Amino acid sequence: MDKTCVSCKKIFTPRPAVKNQQYCSKPECQKARKKKWQKAKLATDSAYKESQAKAQKEWCSKNKGYWKEYRKRNPAYTERNRKKQRQRNLLRRLKPEIAKMDEQKAKNVITPGRYLLKPVCNQNIAKMDALIVEIGVISRGCSVAV
Ligand SMILES: [Zn+2]
Repeated sequence: MDKTCVSCKKIFTPRPAVKNQQYCSKPECQKARKKKWQKAKLATDSAYKESQAKAQKEWCSKNKGYWKEYRKRNPAYTERNRKKQRQRNLLRRLKPEIAKMDEQKAKNVITPGRYLLKPVCNQNIAKMDALIVEIGVISRGCSVAV
């Protein structure tokens, strides 16, 4: 039974040996499939992420100057990157108050109010009483060392 490729949206005939095939066999679609897999793997597997970072670091130290050469060989890529970085810099300069607000929001994850406090340290005990606690802000922007 034919399927629609997730990447190129064209109809293809899945290979019987591949269970639940979603991508056609075109090289660009296979590349997209691998990219998606790797992105998910990096997000969920910390050991994989670590080994990839290590391998990349080793490769970079063995191939010093690669990116400098790459930029020389691909001026369009370099220019595109430069433009995008300029835009990011400009946005950062134009909207520092938004950045500050976002920073503030990130600091105040817990908003003042009444909360139910449930002990989770011993999950084997079937019945444990929950406590109602009230959380309020005493001081903003003060870091407490724990
Ligand atoms: Zn495809």
